[in-house]
Amino acid sequence: MSSVLRIALQKSGRLSEDSYQLFKECGIRFDYGTGKLKSVSSNFPAEFLFLRDDDIPGYVEDGVADLGIVGENVAVETGRPVETIHKLGFSKCRLSIAVPRGTDWVGIHSLNGKNIATSYPNLLGNYLAGQGVQANIHEISGSVEIAPSIGLAEAVCDIVSSGSTLLSNGLKEVETIFRSEAILIARPKLNADKQELVDKLLFRIKSVQAAKN
Ligand code: ATP
Ligand code: ZN
Repeated sequence: MSSVLRIALQKSGRLSEDSYQLFKECGIRFDYGTGKLKSVSSNFPAEFLFLRDDDIPGYVEDGVADLGIVGENVAVETGRPVETIHKLGFSKCRLSIAVPRGTDWVGIHSLNGKNIATSYPNLLGNYLAGQGVQANIHEISGSVEIAPSIGLAEAVCDIVSSGSTLLSNGLKEVETIFRSEAILIARPKLNADKQELVDKLLFRIKSVQAAKN
C-alpha cells in the first residue's frame, strides 16, 4: 500500500487561511471550508484533517496525523513531544503580560503575590519561575483581557499582535514572554515512505518561501 501523509490544519481561525494558501502555493489541491473534517488531495498523496489548533499537537504525537500546523505558542504550551520541522513565517504574534493602564509597574517583580489570568499556564509558569516571581496563575480559556475589569486578576498574560485589544480593555503591555509564528510539526520517527513525502513537501515549501524573499 502506498503511503498517504495525514496533515492536521486548524479548521477555522487565525492559522487557517495562510495554511490553506501555503499548500495551494505548493501546488497541492484539496477542498476546505466545506464543513467536512477531512479532505483528500487530488494531486498529492496527502489527506487533510481540520481540527481545533489546541488538539493538533496531541493528534500528531498520537500518530492520528503525521504533520500539523500550529502556533509555536500552542506547541510549547501543550508540551507534546513532537518535532518542529519548519518555521512558516505567518501568524506572528507574541505572548505578553499586561496590566491595567494606571498600575505602577517597576518590572516583573511587581507581579509577586498577584493573580494573573492566562490561557498559557505552562509558558507563564516557566517564565515566572525563571524570573523568581511567585504569582497565582488562573487558567481561563478565553476573553482573558476582561479578567482585570471583573476583579478576577491584577494582570493578564495573553496573545498580542497589534495591541489594540489590550488598549480597548484599558490594559498596557509590560513584558513580552514569548514570540511565536506558525510552525510545521511532525511525529518523530516517521517511516521511510512518509519521510520521503515530508521531504518532498518541505522542498516545495522552501521553494515557495524563497520565491517570496
Ligand atoms: P481554535 O478554535 O482552533 O481553538 P483559537 O481561538 O484557539 O482557535 P486563534 O485565535 O485562531 O485560536 O489563533 C490561532 C493561533 O494563531 C494562535 O495560537 C497564535 O499562534 C496565532 N495568533 C493568535 N492571535 C493572533 C493575532 N492577533 N495575530 C496573529 N496571529 C495570532
Ligand atoms: Zn485554540
